[in-house]
Amino acid sequence: MKIKVERPKCISCGSCAAVCPQYFEMEESGLAHLKDSKKDADGNEELEVKDPVCAKDASEVCPVQIIKISD
Ligand code: SF4
Repeated sequence: MKIKVERPKCISCGSCAAVCPQYFEMEESGLAHLKDSKKDADGNEELEVKDPVCAKDASEVCPVQIIKISD
């Protein structure tokens, strides 16, 4: 499964890192960072995982809905 974050749209609320520190952390820049992910030219991040676990919770709590889980 894949976790994707449209990082340029992050409003730095910190909710993803609070509910899912396994995958998310807040950078000094204030933006969320998906740990060990690949970043594309637009600044979006993507990570392949076997089990998204708490990333689903992060997806639900993100106020701007920029965390997507897909097959
Ligand atoms: S929950 Fe969404 S808006 Fe808030 S820090 Fe995480 S990615 Fe950014």
